[in-house]
Formats: sequence, C-alpha cells, structure tokens
Amino acid sequence: MRSFVYDLLPSRVVFGPGTIDGLASEVKALGAKRALVLSTPGQRKLADEASRRLGVATAGIHAEAVMHVPVETARAAREIARRVAADCIVAIGGGSTIGLAKAVAVDTKLPIIAIPTTYSGSEMTPIYGVTEGGLKRTARDAKAQPRVVIYDPNLTVGLPAKVSGPSGMNAIAHCVEALYAENANPITSLMAAEGLRALARALPIVVREPENIEARGDALYGAWLAGAALGAVSMGLHHKLCHTLGGSFNLPHAEVHTVILPHATAYNRAAVPEAMRIIAAGLGAKDAAQGLYDLAKAIGAPIALGDIGMPEDGLDRTAQLATENPYYNPRPVEYEAVRRLLDDAYHGRRPAA
Ligand code: NAD
Repeated sequence: MRSFVYDLLPSRVVFGPGTIDGLASEVKALGAKRALVLSTPGQRKLADEASRRLGVATAGIHAEAVMHVPVETARAAREIARRVAADCIVAIGGGSTIGLAKAVAVDTKLPIIAIPTTYSGSEMTPIYGVTEGGLKRTARDAKAQPRVVIYDPNLTVGLPAKVSGPSGMNAIAHCVEALYAENANPITSLMAAEGLRALARALPIVVREPENIEARGDALYGAWLAGAALGAVSMGLHHKLCHTLGGSFNLPHAEVHTVILPHATAYNRAAVPEAMRIIAAGLGAKDAAQGLYDLAKAIGAPIALGDIGMPEDGLDRTAQLATENPYYNPRPVEYEAVRRLLDDAYHGRRPAA
C-alpha cells in the first residue's frame, strides 16, 4: 500500500440549473453585505444580472477582466474594491474573470464567490497568476481559493461551440496530468478519471446542441472534478508547455491546451501505462493520445499550433524554455524529444500509434 498526503481544499459547491437564484443568500451566509461583481466586457449583461439579484448587497460592477490578469488590471480592480468598500467578490465568467478575483483576494483577503461560465476549472484551485512585462507568474495561496462556487448550467448555454470545445479540452488536460502526477493519490485519481469521462461524453453533445442543459451540466460537473484534481496535485510537461506558449506568444489559452494535449500524452505514453489505460477507457478509445486528438477533431477544436497564431520560428525557443529548468514529468524532459513534439503539434499530425 502506497502512503500519501492529501490537503483537502475547502469550498462550498452549489450545483444545478437555476442555482444563480441563491446568489444573495450565499453572500449573506458569508456574513458579507457589499459584493463587488467582476466579469469581462463581453459578459457585462451577466454581471448586471448578478448585480440585480444581489440588490442592496451590490457594491459595484467591474466588467474589465482580460486573459492572463495583466498587473495593471489587477491593480485597478483592487483599487475599485477598496473604493467601494467591498467585503466580498462575486466573479461571474471564465478563468480570466476568476483569475482577476483571485489576484484581488490574495491582497485584500476578500472571500470569493465564483460563478464559472466556462470549463477552465480555475474556481476549484488556489492557483493564481499575474502577468507583468510579458511574463505570467503563478503561485498557490489559500486566499485565492473561492469560498463558494455556484455551477449553474443555464449560464453556459450562450458559450459558443468554438469556445466550449477548447475550454472542455483544457479541463481534460487537468485530468490527464493529474492521473500521472508525482503527488497523485487515490482520491485525486478518482476525480480525474470521472471528470475526464464526464467531459468526453458531454463535449460532443455540447458543441452540437449548445442548449442541451443535461450535457452542459455534465460538462460543468467534469470541469469541477478536473479543477479539484488540478488544485490538489502538481502538473507536468503538458502544462509547462502551454504556460510557455501562452506567455511567450500570447496564444489563446484553451486552444493551446487542446493542440498540445495529444502530443504531450504521446510523449509520456510508455512511462505511465496505467494512467494511459484509464485515459483511453474514459475516451472510449484504444490509445489515449490518439483518442484525445480524435476528440478534439470531432468537436471542431483546433489541432495545429500553426492554425492558432504560433510562429514556426518560435518552436526552438519554446523547447528551450520548457526544458531548461528541471521539474517532474513521468518521462524525462529532453530538448530534442520536446522539439519533435512541438513540430508534430505545429503541423497538427495525429500522434503515431
Ligand atoms: P476566458 O475566461 O478568457 O473566457 C473566454 C471568452 O469567453 C471571454 O471573452 C469571455 O467573456 C467569454 N465567455 C465566458 N463565458 C461565456 C458564456 N457563458 N457565454 C458567452 N461568452 C462567454 O477563458 P477561460 O479559458 O475560461 O480562462 C482562461 C484563463 O484562465 C487563462 O488566463 C488561464 O491561465 C486561467 N486558468 C487558470 C486556472 C487556475 O487554476 N488558476 C485553471 C485554468 C485556467
């Protein structure tokens, strides 16, 4: 029997269609009276709707979140929270909005109520990041962990198929790497395997029938488990590559995850056969890496770095950056092999058997 240590992350989850109706009571249960509502400019209407439900418990709305939390955006949100004397944050949106709330919470200690509208899984983790001078630094801090998460599938029906697919693949990537993490334990592996299964069965339906509430709920359930697994263990080569590509070339986050995942999985294939068996079974495929590639293709998500804005002459530098500092990965991280992986990902080749 293998021994392990597992730090359970405390948060309350309220799940189901229409659960946004309970937002005001969740704020009250925290002992808060002045919520600052955060969102992106594109989701301003949703922020207004949350504010309407909060009534007198709204201190303000700040719908200025953008991808990767630029330090100026974090400073501005912190300043607004101070000016309106907010005593809690309601983050309604995707990983970018929740990321902004985390950056504010780490400094102010304000509790976060997260209402995710994508499948990034960020709402279940204490991981936060801020970008300064083109470099995104991430860290873990208990203050960044949302205290309450409201998963309401009704709020996700407007998420377009072309965002839903990659976002779901981003969550699947958390499950894949959690299954072979150095500090995985039986509970995180259960969450990762079940999260992957739920997402793999939900995503093809979600992109075909965006208003299918059952499938939207299934995808959110999978994202919850994926985020919970991500929050509890450390990640390997896949997340390192995505972080490097996103930060250095400003590529879209979920799309990068979608493209890299089959290739990073193929890279680790021989080193972790049991994790590969679980991933393949969850996908209903013979091979984990090929199954991930086929799923991305089936849901109309991108499969080539060249198609999402990556310059081919940046591949050498990416391989360099991703291999220069040691970190855990089931198979040793070596420049030549990683460079080949990136070439396959650039051209969108199906991983070899
Ligand atoms: P996002 O939050 O940037 O959202 C993508 C776009 O979709 C935005 O324009 C947003 O306004 C729009 N959108 C979101 N929900 C919508 C809905 N229901 N209907 C219509 N439009 C909607 O994208 P994301 O992929 O969710 O988040 C990416 C960010 O999250 C990255 O910065 C990444 O680093 C971070 N992230 C952090 C963690 C963590 O644990 N800290 C985990 C995963 C991702």
